[in-house]
Amino acid sequence: MTGEHQWQRVQEAIRGSISTENYMNWVEPVQFRRIDDDRRLHLVAPNADVRDWLKIQFAGRIVTEARTLGMDVGGVHIDIGQPAPQPIQQTFNFAPEQPQLNANYTFDRFVVGSCNEFAHSASQAVATQPARIHNPLYVYSGVGMGKTHLLHAIGHHLHVRDASMKVVYTSAEEFMNEMIKSISYNNMRKFRERFRRADALLVDDVQAIGSKQGTQEEFFNTFNALHNDGKQIVICSDSDPETIPGLVGRLRSRFSWGLMVDIQPPDLETKMAILDRRAADAGVELPADARSYIATRLHSNIRELEGVLNRLIARAQFVGCKITLGMVKNMFGAQPLRAPGAPTAAAIQHAVAAKFGVTTAKLVARNNARSASQPRQIAMYLCKQIGRLSYTEIAKTFERHHTTVLHAINKVEKHIKVDQDLKSSVNEIIRQLSP
Ligand code: ADP
Ligand code: MG
Repeated sequence: MTGEHQWQRVQEAIRGSISTENYMNWVEPVQFRRIDDDRRLHLVAPNADVRDWLKIQFAGRIVTEARTLGMDVGGVHIDIGQPAPQPIQQTFNFAPEQPQLNANYTFDRFVVGSCNEFAHSASQAVATQPARIHNPLYVYSGVGMGKTHLLHAIGHHLHVRDASMKVVYTSAEEFMNEMIKSISYNNMRKFRERFRRADALLVDDVQAIGSKQGTQEEFFNTFNALHNDGKQIVICSDSDPETIPGLVGRLRSRFSWGLMVDIQPPDLETKMAILDRRAADAGVELPADARSYIATRLHSNIRELEGVLNRLIARAQFVGCKITLGMVKNMFGAQPLRAPGAPTAAAIQHAVAAKFGVTTAKLVARNNARSASQPRQIAMYLCKQIGRLSYTEIAKTFERHHTTVLHAINKVEKHIKVDQDLKSSVNEIIRQLSP
């Protein structure tokens, strides 16, 4: 058994004893890297929160579980960053026959409010009476508003209703990738069979096929075959068919054959209800003042709302106390949210690179020459000041440790106070990036 398999077994062992929420947040995203000569198990966490939580809460437990499973492990070391690259697949396998649906994305766990009730009831109608009421059902909204959640919920429900039903869930991008692989492996017959034998086809993020002529052609044929056969089709997208760039007219018209519904940004009540629900699922008490504070500060994206709550829960567990309004305020203070209209990290990198005559690649590269390090530090500083990114986000963008980011920003702050030239260069970049 490879180390990677063994780590999966350790994960499985832990999964049984903590809440699903905690498992999904803190354990599942962690990947195996290697076991070194000192028998230390090296793992990779996606960010500092996960790493710290694991270190404090779980390092001992991981060692115990690993030993119980027969791994010769004496300690754990957790890094932040990209997991080791996976070996390239030699042969091409299709995605599994039954869809990989996220167990948490069920109708049960979907909080209904005025922003999404129409999309929710249409999804339920399709899930209980496939191909009878709305076909296709087309759901669109901005990111993080629950489209994927609803799509998976429909899939779960169809399965529960009739276990023999072939539900195929895919994203438009996956559809495209599988198609391209099938062409190169001369396997189009199998590809078509997989999609055209479906009883229900659930397609996420369909906007990705805009401008992809070949994929649209194939998708058009799949759509027609299924629709003619009276099979249910559900499509999610970030916009209505009219505004997907490069989408051919005949797909555009087919997408609007059935019912089109949008999800609006959540209203205050829905945001509070979602926070309540998530806190209850995690078995954590969220005081009303803290809840309102979060809900009024975050505007549209439910994923962001969950992210903030998860960070809070982590922090509370970290210091071993309950969530309080003070803690929430502190967190918002320490990690200001991206202000509307704030420049992106990429725009900042471009402007800084142009000003200092380096390439943007140099800003991220592992290169400590002064010619690159000063612009890099300034770019990090600007990401914080005007990009309003958190230290963790900046660390990710520049592929550096977050203490390096902290150090860089402090340094620029100090220099600006005493170095007039630097100050005016920085101000010029800020003016350039101002809307
Ligand atoms: P989208 O596909 O629109 O980008 P997702 O379905 O991925 O959004 O939703 C983002 C996160 O927010 C998911 O974790 C999802 O479970 C959660 N979420 C979205 N809407 C709701 C809701 N109405 N009730 C509960 N959770 C929700
Ligand atoms: Mg989605």
